[in-house]
Amino acid sequence: MSASTSRGGGRGGGSSGASGSGTKGKGSGGPCGACKFLRKKCDPGCVFAPYFDPDQGAIYFASVHKVFGASNVGKLLSKIPVHKRLDAVISICYEAQARMRDPVYGCVGQICTLQQQVLFIFKFSIEITRHIT
Ligand SMILES: [Zn+2]
Repeated sequence: MSASTSRGGGRGGGSSGASGSGTKGKGSGGPCGACKFLRKKCDPGCVFAPYFDPDQGAIYFASVHKVFGASNVGKLLSKIPVHKRLDAVISICYEAQARMRDPVYGCVGQICTLQQQVLFIFKFSIEITRHIT
C-alpha cells in the first residue's frame, strides 16, 4: 500500500521506490537497486541507477521486473526525456505494485473504485442542494 498512498499530491517520494537523487546509489560504486536485483554489473550509464537505490530500490524493482520485465522498462525509460523519467518510474512502480496486489484489475480497480466514489458524492451533493433550495 505504500506506493498507493505516496502518490497524493504529485511526486511520491521515498516510498515509491524511486529515489530521484540523480546520483548512483551510495556513491560507493556498488550496483543500483535494479542491477543488484538482476545480479549484473551496473554500468556508468545505467538507465535505472538514478531511480532505484541499492536498498529499497531493489525491492521495488522486483515487482517492476515481475510485471513489466526489466528489458521492457529499460527500453521504455530510454525513450522518455530524462526530466520526465522520475515521474515515469513512479507511475511504473505504482502500476506494478497494484498489479501484484490485484492481478486481475491492477490499478484499474482503484480507478473504478474512485470513479464510483466520485459519482456517489456527485449524486449526494445534488440531493443536498435540492434539500437546501
Ligand atoms: Zn544499474
